[in-house]
Amino acid sequence: MKKQHFLWITVLVGMLLWMPVMPVHAQAAKITFTQTKDKIKAGNTFTFQAATDDNSPVTYSVTDESLATITEDGQLTAKKAGSVKVIAQSADISASTNVNIIGKKIVCLDPGHSAKMSGGTEPIGPGASTRKAKDAVGTRGVVSGTYEYQFTLTLAKRLQTLLEKKGYEVILTRKDSKHAISCKERAMVANDADADIFVRLHVDASASGSARGASALYPSSANPYNGKLSKKCKKLSKCILNNMCEEAGTHNRGLFVRNDLSGSNWAAMPVTLIEVGFMTNATEDRLLNKTSYQKKLAKGIVSGIDEYFGY
Ligand SMILES: [Zn+2]
Repeated sequence: MKKQHFLWITVLVGMLLWMPVMPVHAQAAKITFTQTKDKIKAGNTFTFQAATDDNSPVTYSVTDESLATITEDGQLTAKKAGSVKVIAQSADISASTNVNIIGKKIVCLDPGHSAKMSGGTEPIGPGASTRKAKDAVGTRGVVSGTYEYQFTLTLAKRLQTLLEKKGYEVILTRKDSKHAISCKERAMVANDADADIFVRLHVDASASGSARGASALYPSSANPYNGKLSKKCKKLSKCILNNMCEEAGTHNRGLFVRNDLSGSNWAAMPVTLIEVGFMTNATEDRLLNKTSYQKKLAKGIVSGIDEYFGY
């Protein structure tokens, strides 16, 4: 055998012997998320984790980097409100999960009352033995005939538009007047949404046609349900009421402590109930039905919310 042939045979045999010990990487068949979250507040981070059935390495990416960024090992940073997909990839298999990024601050607005009322009673706060009617009928304009539930919904929708423009996430406890919703249920909407503040919108009524002005109602520190939040509730009430009255030129009746309001007692975040004026006062009723006045009220409330958060 020629020396050259011998060399070739040695090389071939060597390769054949070596080949079976080469690491043959089997393709993972399955990839699943082991750690996910479907809602994240802008500014917060969360680590997503996915695993394959053979522990092969996983990398992560997002569908829209203007809304969120993610590191190769899965730490997502939420930037602004919107919906993104997190994609976990291992070789050519992948899995994805949807994440809703919610705005920096969540404002839950509660347009008081509705055309439909919940019947029966409910506890006035968590663990309360005292019960109260689930909702009340509300007032009605002495001149306009506008129902309080119509006005509060109109104002809430104006506020929603303005607040969303400023980057707030807005949740309404009701979007129409066709459904009944109890006061406790209104607070639960705010609680379930993990809202930062709960702003309840109402219009006042009095047997005296001369009663006028706006006020804000909040729980006292002695409130057994959410008295711990009283200071923040007071600050929120003050910021909103003062800014609103200043902007719209409304008479400011001041802040009042109330511990009997179920919709406020059930709230797990700072809450205020704003009585924007008296529908039983002819002058205020006329004003409340004017678009220009509603816009001023809304603008003032938004300024108050900004001031509360320090924006
Ligand atoms: Zn009311």
